[in-house]
Amino acid sequence: MKLFKFFAVSSAVGATERPETDDVFMNQCQAAYLESKGIKIDQEMIIEDDCDKEGEENRAAVGTVTRWTNLWDPAENKFIVPYYFAEGYEDLVFGKHTGARSMEVINENVAHFERLTCIKMKLITEVEKDDYTSVIRVYGDDPNKECSSGIGRSFGDSFVHMRADCYTWNEGTTINHEFMHRLGFLHEHSRADRDEHVTIHANKVNDWNYRKLTYGPSDIGQWEDLNSPYDFNSIMHYYSGTQPDGLPTISVAGNLAVRAPVDRTWPMSDQDAFQLNAYQGCEMNNKCADAGPNRCGAPFHVCLNQPIGYECVCVVGFERVIDADGVQTCIRSPDPTSEPTPPPAKLVQDMVVMIDGSGSYSGYREATCDGLKTLIRRGIDIEEKRNEKFRFGFTLYSDRTFMTEEFTRTSSRVYDLAMPLVDVSTFVKDDGKTIDEGKLDDVKQSCITRLGSMYGGGDWEEDVLSGAIWTRSADAMNWSEDSAKSIIVATDVHYWTQERGLT
Ligand SMILES: [Zn+2]
Repeated sequence: MKLFKFFAVSSAVGATERPETDDVFMNQCQAAYLESKGIKIDQEMIIEDDCDKEGEENRAAVGTVTRWTNLWDPAENKFIVPYYFAEGYEDLVFGKHTGARSMEVINENVAHFERLTCIKMKLITEVEKDDYTSVIRVYGDDPNKECSSGIGRSFGDSFVHMRADCYTWNEGTTINHEFMHRLGFLHEHSRADRDEHVTIHANKVNDWNYRKLTYGPSDIGQWEDLNSPYDFNSIMHYYSGTQPDGLPTISVAGNLAVRAPVDRTWPMSDQDAFQLNAYQGCEMNNKCADAGPNRCGAPFHVCLNQPIGYECVCVVGFERVIDADGVQTCIRSPDPTSEPTPPPAKLVQDMVVMIDGSGSYSGYREATCDGLKTLIRRGIDIEEKRNEKFRFGFTLYSDRTFMTEEFTRTSSRVYDLAMPLVDVSTFVKDDGKTIDEGKLDDVKQSCITRLGSMYGGGDWEEDVLSGAIWTRSADAMNWSEDSAKSIIVATDVHYWTQERGLT
């Protein structure tokens, strides 16, 4: 296939006849896809677009046609299609036409997309292009590429070639024609239903730019019926040239001698705009404005246009919650820069009762160990009313330390007779409020038994200090690291005062 050729223009066919050229290219993946369908693609029809680097999300679309639905701006109510001119474009010259003038006219023409469709062509600089996944790169330094484009959106640069004279072609409609290719459109005369309206000359029927597409979802070789009538005014319709046998390249259906009545509408036809909006899946109206001032129904919302309909979202610093009735509201978000406030730690109260074991008369034992029960009840009461965790235990002490070294780790008399700290909550039943009296009695009984194991009486000075040091330092007591610690000395004052005659 020979590319880039002009058709001879016969003076006999009238002033509306324009030269047409092969103008639509494809990337490697699209070509491979077509070849897998049995359509032979000339290597010269393949351009340098990347086709398979956009990541898994679009991998399924690679080789077909990717739409510019990746960048929706709800404030603009548009899909944004960024484009930039390659460096040096304004200095191009072709004949009497300059790149600087071409840039002006291209900008004026593509601005009509914004007015007529939900696409906004956004002019950016080459530096800014790195901010976008996909951009259209307008360049024009290859005279042989004339006015041409790839199909759909590529990753990175999507090339549109605009020689410095392209803005003059077909009364300016060639500019948006090439951009429409980039938006995913093929030629109007390639529609799957075109045989009802036109006949393509046998010389051109296998030319990619004239090939009849098959019905199907929009694809590199397919035509999606977007419910628009065949359109001789479309900017995507070629004007008809004349073939060597004198017949039109495109004639009316079934009459090879009658030239197809193509008359492109600048800047695009109504059907071009309609098809593009349908292809993008969007409504043109401002959905938020149409919905009225209280469209989101609650404070701290903003309305965002979507391609179809609108969305109510919370303003910055607020987040959306939906109540049981399905009504949404916006509440202030927690400050992400501050740590969540932890609940205040419970104060641990560790209390050990140090009981005099030397005065272990049975009456004394009974009264002292009964006191433990009272202590546990009060501890439970404190836990219930205050943010405290209350633990208790007991140790024994004696007046005979100097004789038998009770307060050493090897002493079974004191060390093993101590009761380590336990949480008073373990004396509450599963219902969380009833005190387990049986367990209280067990503690009392255990206390009495242990007390009875100490020396039975004596008349020596009692060694409270040694007992306290041992109680405070023994690992066996299981003190909490961060507890408030206290030791209660339970001594047989009554016994002493009576015996020593102090009362
Ligand atoms: Zn074209």
